[in-house]
Amino acid sequence: MKTASRKKLSMNAICFFLSCLISTALAQSTTAVHQQRAGTMVITDVMVVDGIGIPAEGPKDIIIEGKRIKQVRRANPDGDYRKTADALIDGKDKYALPGFINMHGHLMDSRAGETMPFQYQYNLWLGAGMTTIRDVGSDAEKALVQQRLSREEKIAAPRMFLYMWCGGGDTEEEIRQNVRELKAKGADGLKCHQMDLFTFRIVSDEAKKLGLKIAHHVGIKDANAWHDAEFGTSTIEHWYGVPDAALDGIQQFPADFNHANELHRFRYAGRLWREANPEKLEKVLQSLVDAGVAWDPTFCIYEASRDLQRAVTQPWFKDYLHPALEKFFTPNPKYHGSFFWGWTNTDEVYWKENYQIWMRSVKSFAEKGGVVTTGEDAGFIYQMFGFGYLRELELHEEAGFHPLEVIKHATYNGAKTMGMDHELGRIKATYLADIVVVNGNPLANLHILFPKGINPAMDKQRGNAGGIEWTIKGGIPYHAPTLFEATKSIVTSARQHSE
Ligand SMILES: [Zn+2]
Repeated sequence: MKTASRKKLSMNAICFFLSCLISTALAQSTTAVHQQRAGTMVITDVMVVDGIGIPAEGPKDIIIEGKRIKQVRRANPDGDYRKTADALIDGKDKYALPGFINMHGHLMDSRAGETMPFQYQYNLWLGAGMTTIRDVGSDAEKALVQQRLSREEKIAAPRMFLYMWCGGGDTEEEIRQNVRELKAKGADGLKCHQMDLFTFRIVSDEAKKLGLKIAHHVGIKDANAWHDAEFGTSTIEHWYGVPDAALDGIQQFPADFNHANELHRFRYAGRLWREANPEKLEKVLQSLVDAGVAWDPTFCIYEASRDLQRAVTQPWFKDYLHPALEKFFTPNPKYHGSFFWGWTNTDEVYWKENYQIWMRSVKSFAEKGGVVTTGEDAGFIYQMFGFGYLRELELHEEAGFHPLEVIKHATYNGAKTMGMDHELGRIKATYLADIVVVNGNPLANLHILFPKGINPAMDKQRGNAGGIEWTIKGGIPYHAPTLFEATKSIVTSARQHSE
């Protein structure tokens, strides 16, 4: 009897021990897997930068359930939610930022007549932390397909908002009909490009009726920033139209200036800000702020104009420049933005001054309460997808913004401008789980957002830190170094085929 009971007891003990082992094994959370959404995922012990410009705080645990953030809470190593999570991301010594929003992208699957797969763009965008792209003009039919595939999670790509090219028309009815057709097609907004005032007024009016926002690339026409303020444009792209509105008269073009010549156009664009009347300029900026027009300056896309040497020797070209893009960048009047066949040091000196006044104006606009966003416009003028955007963030700091403000430009401000700030642009419960996990503190040095392996000297200097580790879009974790490796393979194979 005694023996039997002891035996029974020890059997029970073994069973208990075994069941503990099994349940521990079942509850054992694993590291997040590239491109696989887990039921629940926790980013542990991470410093959190919300998108609204407030200080970083942590360590925190970010609990993600499916596509959304369930809770952001003080880190708790003993929390049951950590044990039961399907996937974990170790956030120790790392920073979590809201997913970046690129307010000026162009979807493209070819350049200079050669094929370049969409996935090339997507890898670079996701790898550089972008979870949302506002496409401001591309092939609408193709873009609609890509937008659907992204929405249905059939491709690894950022979420997309399509602001479609809006053409004109000869009559008012044609112009209005054109806007209605774009709405019916599924446009999220419109891109107006160098429109005359007659057309722009009608497009703005029809768009307002249909609830379409407008991104405006102003041309040297009779429409300028005063009209953006009057009609309530959503965003001014780049900067054209702002100094124009502050001129006393018109720009002092030389007698042989030809607007159809891109070299002329870019050369004298570089001498425009200096001609703006500073007092009038402040009034223009105030009127834009009062009308709620946001500014998407895309500083990065004109950088070649002030420093061509820097632009043509960017270190990531070695492994990541697609041959189609390389061909497109080579100076050639056929390709938009490839105007450098006659570029001089004098042009660069003017452009350097141009940047200084432009940057001061963006800062002044923000100080008046204006909303500034970050866009890239890559695929032109030596600017690559992803890398261009990260450079854009650095240039916002150069314009005088604190890194926390720069992150706000890149996240919350973009979401707000598109009317998506109820679920994008912040790290907050109920928001979509769009999160960038950075290996280190980007507020101390925005350079560390760039991937490792590009500049050995810089890698050595930053030790184990540096690089975006994960870009999470709607709860799907993308391992950034894996995306960059995949991009290298796309480029290597394209180069072999183009040889
Ligand atoms: Zn553009």
